[in-house]
Amino acid sequence: MSRTGAAQPTQYPDPDPRFPFPHSPTPTRCQTEPTLFDFANGDRTSDPAATEMRLNKARRACSGCPIVKDCLRWALINKPLTKVGIIAATTPSQRTTLRKRMADRLGPDWIDVLAAQAKARRERAAAARHNPLTISQARIVRLDREINGPMRRPLTPAQQQRNMARLVAGLKAA
Ligand code: SF4
Repeated sequence: MSRTGAAQPTQYPDPDPRFPFPHSPTPTRCQTEPTLFDFANGDRTSDPAATEMRLNKARRACSGCPIVKDCLRWALINKPLTKVGIIAATTPSQRTTLRKRMADRLGPDWIDVLAAQAKARRERAAAARHNPLTISQARIVRLDREINGPMRRPLTPAQQQRNMARLVAGLKAA
């Protein structure tokens, strides 16, 4: 509230322009069911069992999301914007742990390192468009697009299962 008593609109910082939020080919569950993803650390105290059930539902929704990997990277990079909520199947405290792991792995300027890697990847892809590739180079570029490019088809149940297993393994290791 301001001194005049009028409510002030919440001011959010701008997201890092080097990492735009990934495009989803279909509406994401957090867009269609936003309340499912509401969560702040400490929420569990009122009804732990009900909260856990809701969290599991949100995590399952994220595991089937076509942009889960890029969504997680966006959330880790944009800390001021992601202090609450389930995002890419993670709670706020799990994201804090994952940020620490990124800093351990890549150094305190890990976001700049990721930005440099992304730029190099874009430059390689642009160069590949102008120069004929050898067969093995073309294979690497295809693999890179599969891993890092936007997904155009919904995930199969097997792919969803694999995503879930990777997320669970990553979170256990966090
Ligand atoms: S992965 Fe990200 S975009 Fe997809 S449903 Fe979860 S929070 Fe939403």
